[in-house]
Amino acid sequence: MASAPTLLNQPSEEQRRLVRRSKELLPAGTTTSVVPPDGLEFIVDHGDGAYLYDVDGRRYLDFFLGAGPLVLGHAHPRLVQTIQQSAEKGTHHFGLHRRTVELAERLVQYVPSAEMVRFAASGSEATFHALRLARAVTGRQGVIKFDGAYHGHHDLAVWSYEQTPIDGTQPTAESRGIQAGVSENIVVLPFNDPSALRQALEDAPERFGAVICEPHMRSIPPNPGYLEAMREACDRTGTVLIFDEIVTGFRLAPGGGQEYYGVTPDVTTLGKAMTGGMPMSAVVGKRAFMEHFDPASAPEQYAFHCGTYNGYYLAAECAHTTLDILIEEGGIEQLHRLGSLAREKLERVFIDAGEPVSMNGHGPMFHPYFSDRRVENNADVRASNLEKSAAFHCKLVEGGIYKEFVKGYVGLPHTEAHLDELARIAAWALAQLKV
Ligand code: PMP
Repeated sequence: MASAPTLLNQPSEEQRRLVRRSKELLPAGTTTSVVPPDGLEFIVDHGDGAYLYDVDGRRYLDFFLGAGPLVLGHAHPRLVQTIQQSAEKGTHHFGLHRRTVELAERLVQYVPSAEMVRFAASGSEATFHALRLARAVTGRQGVIKFDGAYHGHHDLAVWSYEQTPIDGTQPTAESRGIQAGVSENIVVLPFNDPSALRQALEDAPERFGAVICEPHMRSIPPNPGYLEAMREACDRTGTVLIFDEIVTGFRLAPGGGQEYYGVTPDVTTLGKAMTGGMPMSAVVGKRAFMEHFDPASAPEQYAFHCGTYNGYYLAAECAHTTLDILIEEGGIEQLHRLGSLAREKLERVFIDAGEPVSMNGHGPMFHPYFSDRRVENNADVRASNLEKSAAFHCKLVEGGIYKEFVKGYVGLPHTEAHLDELARIAAWALAQLKV
């Protein structure tokens, strides 16, 4: 029987008041659609290394890492110093800064598909502009995305990313208020199914401007040969292949999933880990596509892209520091070591508890699906025991582990002792589910 961890104390009256107030002021009491379960809400005070602290001083071992960007952990001393020193030069200038040009140089150096770069402020902006570019250049409206893939909040992205059933390849809208007619241009396919993709593209070779995919979709790695098949099918039909590497970029390898899996897309989106936690994203890609962002390019293929905070100076400086640590100083290798350990330790806990598990994730990402078969696409996710998974994750929070319900991240401040702590609390949480 797993030993009981020290559970979080009950929230103070002041924290309860803040949670109540947040629900009056912010719809669902949150700043996004990710809503914590009732009773497990907390109000953050600060982060430090691998830990997040709430206003009562309760401590959470953090595997959520700011939804992914905090590969260096919270308040890394070198990032803090970068911010302090850079802020003296102004936070933002709109005019292009030398350090932003140098950052573009680094992206071209590291990322195989990158010949030119445009910056934006968030991942959603990047996927929006990548899709607009693909459609502008090809003159084709159609977009293929994958069931369960998340690419942000805009009209071309909010389709079939939750566990909503789909009818054939028909997309399911995740929001009302989407521009009329968009759904006609979206086709949703199962991930890791090369023949479904080949067939969709070859049945209508002139229909699709883009295929957009995360090379490692949420917590689901690509099967061997799948991304290669995707590349070939896109080449045969002149479809732009977009890798959304907002999550995988600078995490799976210096050149992201495309380097790690050895398949080069036409256009790539980057964000999250790139800056270690500052709002900045990038669209990078082959020159033949990217040059259509230039207002002087052929008007019939021009893609408009603008934004006050594009290339935000403070974020560019943070990106340099983060990339120094991740790439020049071996950070990514360490993330891989930690990620393998997290998966091994957690899998052992499930096996010891007799709980069927598909331990998913590559590199620094991990996620245990409550499933007796390997989870390879979103139908497998739906077939897994999501209710039990949710109950397990709620127990983790009670034990002081903060992890997204669909994915876990390790970061550089994590140690083997932290992963043992994760395993210990996971064992306790599984035992609790049986009580
Ligand atoms: N693409 C992927 C793969 C993501 O995981 C996310 C965010 N979770 C986005 C795009 C959107 O990024 P943002 O939240 O910065 O708009």
